[in-house]
Amino acid sequence: MTDNCPNCPQQSVQPAAEYRGDTQVGHLYRCPGCGVTWSTNRDRQAYGEAA
Ligand SMILES: [Zn+2]
Repeated sequence: MTDNCPNCPQQSVQPAAEYRGDTQVGHLYRCPGCGVTWSTNRDRQAYGEAA
């Protein structure tokens, strides 16, 4: 799942890494435009996965 850079207009940044927890999935992103890094956590049910 791609995300938009929080620091510049770059969109659809591909995740550099993924972490799967019991109920959430975390993604680490690095913007190819400005180089900023950020991470997100999403509920696994948002992906349609069984918890
Ligand atoms: Zn950026």
